[in-house]
Amino acid sequence: MSAFRGAFGGLLAASMLCAVAAPAHAAERARNVILFIGDGMGVSTLTAARIYEGQRRGADGASNLLPFERFPDLALVRTYSADNLVTDSAASASALLTGRRTLNGALGVTDEIALADCASAMGRQVPTLAEEAKQAGLAVGVVTTAAITDATPASLYAHTPSRRWQSDADMPPEAVEGGCVDIARQMLDRPDAARFDVMLGGGSANFVSEDGKRMDGRDLVAEWRKTGGAYVATGSELKALPPGTSRLLGLFAPNNMMRESVRRSTDTDAPRLVDMTTRAIEILRRNKQGYFLMVEGALIDKSHHVSLAADALNETVEFAEAVAAAAAMTDPKDTLIIVTADHSHGLTLNGGKRDTPILGVLQGTDDDPPVALDGRPVPILMYATGPGAPGPDEPRSVPTEADMADPDRLTYAAIPLPSAAHTGEDVAAYARGPGASQIRGLMDQPGVHRAMRQALGLGK
Ligand SMILES: [Zn+2]
Repeated sequence: MSAFRGAFGGLLAASMLCAVAAPAHAAERARNVILFIGDGMGVSTLTAARIYEGQRRGADGASNLLPFERFPDLALVRTYSADNLVTDSAASASALLTGRRTLNGALGVTDEIALADCASAMGRQVPTLAEEAKQAGLAVGVVTTAAITDATPASLYAHTPSRRWQSDADMPPEAVEGGCVDIARQMLDRPDAARFDVMLGGGSANFVSEDGKRMDGRDLVAEWRKTGGAYVATGSELKALPPGTSRLLGLFAPNNMMRESVRRSTDTDAPRLVDMTTRAIEILRRNKQGYFLMVEGALIDKSHHVSLAADALNETVEFAEAVAAAAAMTDPKDTLIIVTADHSHGLTLNGGKRDTPILGVLQGTDDDPPVALDGRPVPILMYATGPGAPGPDEPRSVPTEADMADPDRLTYAAIPLPSAAHTGEDVAAYARGPGASQIRGLMDQPGVHRAMRQALGLGK
């Protein structure tokens, strides 16, 4: 029996190796590549979001699909970092953008560095796909609902032993003296030919000294404008850009942008993710040699961290709308679109009748309501960890209908943490366009990187 098991195990291992080391077919070439990263958009988030989106329209949620879930190619992706079972956004996005795993908290450097140690990162920078694409003559864009200096967008252009060094005010003096440069400066303070063409998101405070955080007295936005680049700070300005704009910086909030539920309920003039995405493509596609664009739905993760499941699902729907708009504006014959997540979050679906509202509690019969051992109803959605957990002497809160309509209601979590922990299960990747067939089977994040660089013909 054990011999059989051994033989079976061997076969299994061999077949798995084949799947991982897929034959290198002549690569299909794409003129453009768009990488969509749903931050913290694990598989359970996708399932819940498609149910939520369907139910919101009065349709059947269970059989609903988000638009990109119809893309023809699909893989599961392992996300572990060089030093952790569960990655953070910095190490994850670095693996996608550089093809090499690094330490949690580091960006665009090898795993030989020590975290937040400036000297250790010297000479250990790894070029990113965005930098190489720019060098090869492509236009490059980055779009996010986070601060544009936050880990995921910074993975396109930053090389730093600490994702926290978003402005010089965030750096210890010895790092500044040691020659390390903050993330905001790394984005804009580079030679003309190496600067990206479109950069849209939040984080203006990291770029300016007056009314901002910078300690060095510089105004990086003014310096950008002096180079001839356009600058916008509101949704109206983004909409009203003169045709022919070819280089654009848009910073729409001092830090992260607002969750869509908040943006909609205030009279703020900030664009939605879909507005930024379509504008970025309109500008980048003027480059005849093609473009590379990364779009991040950052507030999925940020909502999960604070136990706001309704917002996390709404942000996933917002993200899906941005993907759909990009798909509609591009030709699958020349544009590879990959949609993936950097890591998962501990969101769980506990059950429910097919038509039970996804943000509600399990429904039973009047005689037999499904209750937990503490006598309370069972929420359909809950978190493993996060601030939604009751305190030690606090009863578990039971959502009423009014609660369910309240976007600020915290979703129940089992373990109290001030900020929910990321989780380590594999994430999905969906692809459409030339080279999409490389997205298949069980992959690693560096494998997704290889698929993009092959499609762009960037060499090994
Ligand atoms: Zn996170």
